[in-house]
Amino acid sequence: MIGLKQSDDISERLLIKGRVRVTIMATEKLKARKVVRKSCLKQLTTDAEKYRMKALELGAADAKVIPASHVVVDERVRLKCSVPRCHLYGECVNCPPYTPPPGQMRRILKKYKYAVLFKTHVSPKTDFVDDEKWHVGHMMHQRRIHEIAGAIEALAFNDGYYLAAGFAAGGCKTALCSGQVCQFLDSGRCRFPLKARPSMEGVGIDVFDLVTKVGWDVYPIAVREVDPESVGCAISVGIVFIH
Ligand code: SF4
Repeated sequence: MIGLKQSDDISERLLIKGRVRVTIMATEKLKARKVVRKSCLKQLTTDAEKYRMKALELGAADAKVIPASHVVVDERVRLKCSVPRCHLYGECVNCPPYTPPPGQMRRILKKYKYAVLFKTHVSPKTDFVDDEKWHVGHMMHQRRIHEIAGAIEALAFNDGYYLAAGFAAGGCKTALCSGQVCQFLDSGRCRFPLKARPSMEGVGIDVFDLVTKVGWDVYPIAVREVDPESVGCAISVGIVFIH
């Protein structure tokens, strides 16, 4: 684990040297808690609230602890990665067709009971809506989602929830590698092995369904066609399955 962390840091330094913008998170030492065979509900509730607060501290506009059963995986979500084809489809190892297929994800997610769902507000809205700005605009917002998901997953892991798993928004090729060729597909070595993760939608999670279920506003944004005035807000969403 320590080796991988160091490799993340080295990759970040290299990218900065190459004048690619990358946000660096302060490395904080986490306290490891002894793993117990069966988690007690009281402890789990306290921990889930701690992770929710951490998401807010790291810049989330809102975060909720939800039952994992709220999450719906739908084959049609994954279909939307290829029809119409996303520019990241097949371009990054954390995007389809390389991500776990919906059937497998459904079986996996059934084993979790709790998750922390969080969102960031995209401001200015033009970072997502404006035809000229959205490509660069996406990077910063989706990078933040990767960072929050990674930080909460690491916290939970060190608290003994060793199966905690986080999912972000968008593709890590955009969010972390600033559009460079995916180094994993190129040479088998991801630049950000601990930070890079699939998006929720990339594994078939119906994000729109989930977000409306918890009462958050969300709008479809088809950059070229939509009237920006009709988009009430733009958000970016991530999730960490805890236990
Ligand atoms: S090298 Fe970049 S694009 Fe490829 S998996 Fe890692 S972070 Fe994602």
